[in-house]
Amino acid sequence: MKNIWRAVRFIPEYRGRVVGVVAVGSALGALATAAPQVYKMVVDVLSGMVSGRLSHEQGARRVVILVAAFFVLRVAVVVFSALQDKQADDLWLDAVSTFRQRVFDNMTRLSIDYFEKVRVGEIMDRFGAITQITMWLMSLTEGTLANVLQMLFMLGLLAWRAPPIGAIMGAVLAVNFVISYRTVGWTRPYRRGWQRLAGKMTGLLAEMVGNISTVRSFGGEPAVKDRYDQTQAEWRVMRDGLHRTEWRSALILNIANAIGVFVVVAIASLGAVRGRYTAGDILLVLTLSQSLISTVAPIARQINQMGEIDSSAERLLELLDVEAEVRDAPGAVDLERLETVAFENVSFAYPEKGTLALREISFVLGQGQSLALVGPSGSGKTTIVKLLMRFYDPTEGRVLVNGRDIREYTQRSLRAALGVVLQDVALFNDNIAENIAFARPGASLDEVRAAAVAANADSFIGGLPQGYDTLVGERGIKLSGGEKQRVAIARAVLKDPQLIILDEATSALDSESEHAVQQALQRLLRGRSSVTIAHRLSTVVGADQILVLKEGRVVERGPHATLARRPGGLYARLLSIQTQQPIAPPPALIPADIPA
Ligand code: ADP
Ligand code: MG
Repeated sequence: MKNIWRAVRFIPEYRGRVVGVVAVGSALGALATAAPQVYKMVVDVLSGMVSGRLSHEQGARRVVILVAAFFVLRVAVVVFSALQDKQADDLWLDAVSTFRQRVFDNMTRLSIDYFEKVRVGEIMDRFGAITQITMWLMSLTEGTLANVLQMLFMLGLLAWRAPPIGAIMGAVLAVNFVISYRTVGWTRPYRRGWQRLAGKMTGLLAEMVGNISTVRSFGGEPAVKDRYDQTQAEWRVMRDGLHRTEWRSALILNIANAIGVFVVVAIASLGAVRGRYTAGDILLVLTLSQSLISTVAPIARQINQMGEIDSSAERLLELLDVEAEVRDAPGAVDLERLETVAFENVSFAYPEKGTLALREISFVLGQGQSLALVGPSGSGKTTIVKLLMRFYDPTEGRVLVNGRDIREYTQRSLRAALGVVLQDVALFNDNIAENIAFARPGASLDEVRAAAVAANADSFIGGLPQGYDTLVGERGIKLSGGEKQRVAIARAVLKDPQLIILDEATSALDSESEHAVQQALQRLLRGRSSVTIAHRLSTVVGADQILVLKEGRVVERGPHATLARRPGGLYARLLSIQTQQPIAPPPALIPADIPA
């Protein structure tokens, strides 16, 4: 139960409305209890008339009054039910929407490292728990709480009218509660198990769909299917255990209830034969006992489900409880204009990893200058960029912007000054115009088009079936690598940042699209500072400063001319390997001297 309560505290504003729904529900419960009482009175009047205790006229008058009371009762039930349904439906809709917004919002604020370690499908699965939890809460407020009140009321009435029967029904209800509550405990391990496995199955499915090309090309279908089937088999075992336990509990309860009702009927009938109860009393006692049994069933079900909901809530809370590792400092200021960047003895290890990805990196990048990072793959180039974007904080040392630690700026303003073009371009399944405007929501179509022109993208977009309205497909699957790259550059142009970061932006391109992309990049870089990571050294020859990295350390630094001439140096070695390749080197990226 405690997880459910903690989850509910994320939407405290609905407390008042919940009380309203419960109040109307309780009124309904009281009305439901009054009905058997009216039946009893009618029967007593009738048997009074039969035995001659009441005159025909007296009897008729009382019956008319009772029938009128019954009518009022039914009308009240209809009105209250309608009111309650409406109230409850509106409440659920509002509550579930708010809840989803809160969780979604929290997800968008988490640090990158969180998303690097969890499966997307698992997040989806946990997200789905919101609907489940709110539905359960709704049936609790709408029916169950009122049912509990109604039950207590009926039991009181029964105990007052026929104490022995009240006692027996009390015992039957107690058995129901105890068994239902214990079932929650008995089924806990199975529930935890099947929910975890269901989450894993969703994760595997999402992974397979996301990597379908790789799966196909390696003929990996049997392997992924095996993994899925195996997880499903484990899931079945857990579900089966759950069902067996629940089945056993339900059987015990049904037997207990049947015995209870049997004893009640026997006692009431014998009591009537001995003249202890009137005909009306018997009717009242039997109706109440029967209603009690049918009221307790949904309550027991609700208690039963509580366990499942509680573990769903626990899984949801795990999403809500992850604190962003990287957070804005309390007095963080907005970065107005990025001028200089510097790394000061920066060392960094990824969370949960012992080895350092970067060791004592230092450099200064002045305004309008270009820095290139080269080195073998895995040497830490991308990691430098991640620290600069503040996806992570350094383990040691400082990253400075305009001479101040970047932790003193708000993350939003810092990232607003950076334009990033990566090897893998992330596109949303939306049209091209929206994808470009993602950099600056609210940009006009003219601005989007101007950016596309600067990025050499306007001409290929013009050739698409619906031009700027063309949908790009999931992650941009309908565009070629070079086209996606130019959309990404258009984004960066539109954003108009002060520092450009290019991480292997052209590595995956063929030479023809590379030429178009290079041209676009040169326009983008003009007049801005830049950090370029390039695999092909020919693209960095014009950089003001080149850092050569190896295993997280800077092993050489300087301009191209110096590094190329150092005998035995890593840069010179990489250069000689590359120039021996028979491919024509593309034009130098920097300096840019082609017309815009
Ligand atoms: P490069 O961009 O030079 O190829 P990276 O900066 O991506 O290299 O990686 C440097 C090192 O950090 C590598 O050893 C890599 O395995 C490790 N690494 C990269 N990303 C992560 C991560 N998210 N979690 C843990 N280790 C990582
Ligand atoms: Mg990299």
